[in-house]
Amino acid sequence: MDLTIIYDNTAFDPRLGAGWGFSCLVACGEATVLFDTGADGDLLLSNMEKLCIRPGSVDYVFISHLHLDHVGGLASFRAVNRDAKVYFPDTAPNRAKHKMIALREQQRLLPGMYTTGILEGIEQSLLVWTSRGWVVISGCAHPGVGRILQAAAGLGDIRALIGGLHDFQKFELVRGLELICPTHCTMYDDQLRNLFPQKCIQGGAGRRLVLD
Ligand SMILES: [Zn+2]
Ligand SMILES: [Zn+2]
Repeated sequence: MDLTIIYDNTAFDPRLGAGWGFSCLVACGEATVLFDTGADGDLLLSNMEKLCIRPGSVDYVFISHLHLDHVGGLASFRAVNRDAKVYFPDTAPNRAKHKMIALREQQRLLPGMYTTGILEGIEQSLLVWTSRGWVVISGCAHPGVGRILQAAAGLGDIRALIGGLHDFQKFELVRGLELICPTHCTMYDDQLRNLFPQKCIQGGAGRRLVLD
């Protein structure tokens, strides 16, 4: 799995712009998936350009939840890529449009990729299989990290947790993971970094993670 953070509250790569929101590109096997779209389409597309990511190379968009800082860039993205299928959480009625697929339950989306399904009525996380277990990609973790990890654990070992962790403080839950990349809305990332300095890595737009 090859993951690049495109949009984040901070910039890891100083060439990129930062803004409140989250988006990352996930390449796994044959499929390239854009996870969330940030708040602002112009910033999303400009960061993609600086990272040499062609919008047309994206096969699927996965929307974790319908908060503006995750879905705000979607219309701009779709204006430059009309072919990508969009997986979105079925939490609002009548949102389905052309090439949009509403998701509710835990299910396989693509080879090596699952959704946790909508948890606590608000948000789904993306699960990507690697040789040493599942990588969990979270938008804001509104359902709670414990709830998300519980849903993922039903499928097998969890290797890594990447994304927004909101007000997560039950740090013992992630002790067994190989890698944590707390970013976006994570409030207690300093505490996580202090507790797990070896496995906690900095996020930010431009951060790339390759996990075999
Ligand atoms: Zn949110
Ligand atoms: Zn958010």
